[in-house]
Formats: sequence, structure tokens, C-alpha cells
Amino acid sequence: MTPDVDDRAVLHADCSRCAALCCVLPPFAASADFAIDKPAGRPCPNLAGDDRCRIHEQLPERGFPGCVAFDCFGAGQQVVQVTYRGRDPRAEPEALAVLDAMRQLSELLWYLADALARPAAAPLHAELAAARDRARALREAGARELAALDTGALRRDAGALLSEVSDRVRRGLPGPRTDRSGADLVGAALRGADLRAGCLRGAYLIGADLRRADLRGADLLGADLRAADLRGADLRDALFLTLPQVAAARTDGATRLPEGLAR
Ligand code: SF4
Repeated sequence: MTPDVDDRAVLHADCSRCAALCCVLPPFAASADFAIDKPAGRPCPNLAGDDRCRIHEQLPERGFPGCVAFDCFGAGQQVVQVTYRGRDPRAEPEALAVLDAMRQLSELLWYLADALARPAAAPLHAELAAARDRARALREAGARELAALDTGALRRDAGALLSEVSDRVRRGLPGPRTDRSGADLVGAALRGADLRAGCLRGAYLIGADLRRADLRGADLLGADLRAADLRGADLRDALFLTLPQVAAARTDGATRLPEGLAR
């Protein structure tokens, strides 16, 4: 078993150690999040020669809010600095698959670190630590192994474990613990709602009014919070909340976030 440090400290994008991989490798279809079609492997036209975004300060106004909310969980710099040992991998045929696998592994590590930090999940710590160590080791793997990785199987295995963690943690918390996993709550009027210790896994909360909602201890794994209004909402101790989710929502100085999540 490797040391018990919280991986979340390093699971953030560090563009200065990357090579603008997320602006070059993935394909994008024009949508509310990304204003244009962009084929895989072609640099976004907004990318300058120094690998900086020319419209960084106006991304939402110019039709690219998805770029504001995106975070690679540190996958970009890991791919460039570790997988390819400092080489620019953008011309490598497998680079997109490598980046995709690395991002999924890194996101998984985030969830496992969250789970491991929960005292109520102590009976599962050995299993969680084993899953974490496997994900850590895979982040150090070579390009071929990463490109061929079955991330779906990894996520399925970890998903069952994370569900168990969620149940144990929420069972010990006050609140109605309502299960709304996967629910269609697009644009829902949930202002001031008591959602404490509820399960909102994979729920569609796009544009929902969650002002001053009480989401303490709610499981938000994979919940779609794009344009959700979280002003004044209380998300302390929310499970499996990530920076991209927070960045995609509307927050203010009164929004209370779990420890370690910057606004
Ligand atoms: S708009 Fe800017 S941040 Fe978004 S993909 Fe293009 S260059 Fe990158």
C-alpha cells in the first residue's frame, strides 16, 4: 500500500506543464458549451502560437462556457511530463486515447480520495486504498497500456465501492436522505429545498434553482450542475463534488463548499 496522502492536492490542471492537449486532441461538436465544430487532433482556432487561449477572458461571452468549466484533474500535465517524459505528444496517434484514459483515472482518484477522507467509510478503507493504489500505478503506465485501458471496467468496479461509501456516510447524517439519483431536475424549482444527505448521483440539475438549498452531505457524483443556481446554497460535506461541477454552476460568496474546493 502506498502512502496515505490526499491525491486531490495534485488533481488540478497545470496548463504551464501541459501542451494545450485539451484544446487540440478532443473533437467537439458545436453546442451551448462550445460554439464551433472542431475535429479531433486539430488545434482550436482560438489557440495562440504560445499555447494560450486568445479569448480566455471572454470564454462565456464568446460561446465557450464549457472551457471555463472543464478541468482535466491534472491529466494533461501527467501525460506530457510523465507518460511522454516531457515530449509534446500531440502528433502521436494514440495521444487522444491516452489523455482520455488519464483523465478518467485522475477523476476516479479524486473520488477515491474523497471516500478515503470520510471517517464513516473506515470499514472500507482497505478496499478503497487498494483501488487508489491501482489507479495511482496506472497513471504511471506507458502510452500503449493507457491507450488500451478498459476504463469502463475500472469505473464500474470503483462505482460499486463508492456507492457503498455514500450509503454509509449518508446513513449517519441528519436529513431526509431522499433518493433522486438520475432524476430529471432540469430547471427545477428547488430554492431553499432540504436536500441534506440525499442521493443526487447523475441527476440532471441543469439550470435548476438551488438558491439557498441545503445540500450538506448530498451525494453529487456525476450530477449535471451546468448553469444551476447555487447562490447561498450549502454544500458542505457534499460527496464526490468536483471543481468542474462547481465551475459550471452559478455561485456567490454565500455558497458554502466542501473543504478544499475553491470557487
Ligand atoms: S476556446 Fe480557448 S480554452 Fe477553449 S478549446 Fe479553444 S483555445 Fe482552448
